[in-house]
Amino acid sequence: MNNFFSTSDNKTSLNNQYADLKNNYEQIFVEAAESIRKEISSFKPVNPCEKCSIKDCKIEKKDVFTAYPPNCSYRDWQLKVLTFLAGDYKNKLKAVYKNIMGKKSDYSCAQCASCCKLAVSEYSYTQLKQRALKGDKFSKDFVSVFVPYETEEDAKAVNPEYFELLNKLVTEEKVYYYYCPKLKDNLCSDYENRPDICREFPHNPLKLLPSSCSFNEWKKSVAHEAMLLKAKTDILEFYRSKLQ
Ligand code: SF4
Ligand code: SF4
Repeated sequence: MNNFFSTSDNKTSLNNQYADLKNNYEQIFVEAAESIRKEISSFKPVNPCEKCSIKDCKIEKKDVFTAYPPNCSYRDWQLKVLTFLAGDYKNKLKAVYKNIMGKKSDYSCAQCASCCKLAVSEYSYTQLKQRALKGDKFSKDFVSVFVPYETEEDAKAVNPEYFELLNKLVTEEKVYYYYCPKLKDNLCSDYENRPDICREFPHNPLKLLPSSCSFNEWKKSVAHEAMLLKAKTDILEFYRSKLQ
């Protein structure tokens, strides 16, 4: 399968990149679901009913989500699936995540300062400060540098394309826009003391980045892997909630 940003090049607009991402997610989700299904089917018992002592069993569809009696071999399988998903499978996904994040070091920041000029959060400044007081590290870092824009128009004026895209993504919940006053003449005036959120940006390969960000190349290189990981993680949680 192609990378889902494969139709994009450096000049492709953020909106087109977003459309590519959406259009390909369904396909990637199916791929993830099929891969998990194969893994758990590989240890499904073969014809255990032939040796079963339970009388009058009416279960016809023997899939992983069926309700089985406690001493049924398929129930043992379900429990093995749960152990597998919470253990080996989850560890496999963690390794994939580590690998994706490790590839970020092949790229370096172009110091365009777009991420200092426009940051978005689903939390208001007050909420972020409350979360910081409760020990949330990300919020603590965030409020140590960012302050809110007075109006959305002010935020939009800084990077209209990025603003529109972020707005499009969050149609149902309110979001808040921030900037860092430590940016002076497009340079960080407190570079040595900048917090981890600045040092580690971008923290997520699925995050939509400003088009000037050099880490878009990293995003493109890991896009399929990252979307597959997200789909598998979502499916894993679905299985675990259904099988408990
Ligand atoms: S502290 Fe420096 S690197 Fe971090 S957002 Fe502010 S200007 Fe940018
Ligand atoms: S947007 Fe990307 S390239 Fe620009 S300063 Fe931030 S991390 Fe660096």
